[in-house]
Amino acid sequence: MKTPDKIMRYRKKHPDYTLKQLARRYKVSVPYVWKTLKDQYINPTSFKFAYPNYCKICSFEINNRSKLICSKECRDKYYYMDILCDVCLTPIKILKSKYWWKVGHGQRRFYHNRRCYYLGRQEKL
Ligand SMILES: [Zn+2]
Ligand SMILES: [Zn+2]
Repeated sequence: MKTPDKIMRYRKKHPDYTLKQLARRYKVSVPYVWKTLKDQYINPTSFKFAYPNYCKICSFEINNRSKLICSKECRDKYYYMDILCDVCLTPIKILKSKYWWKVGHGQRRFYHNRRCYYLGRQEKL
């Protein structure tokens, strides 16, 4: 039996096998497996894990093409940053976009609550 036929048969028995796994099993390249399936009118992208992605933060493999970030923790790191309260140095978690927006609008000092806000204002005066 030719390799493409073997791949086809195997793929039918194991529909959730990835291109990478098939390639490894038959010692061929991923594009080769892809082409084989395409030639047989099987949509290669119907593979669940056909094209792994890598987390933008920790480089962990993500088995979902549309996801950029692997976990909630990484998502937090991606979107949030830690700054310190100007008065008491309490860490403040802030959306990066919000932070840069505020800095862009002239804000230089950040406070973790109202009390520190008032203290900080008094100090300034
Ligand atoms: Zn991650
Ligand atoms: Zn504070």
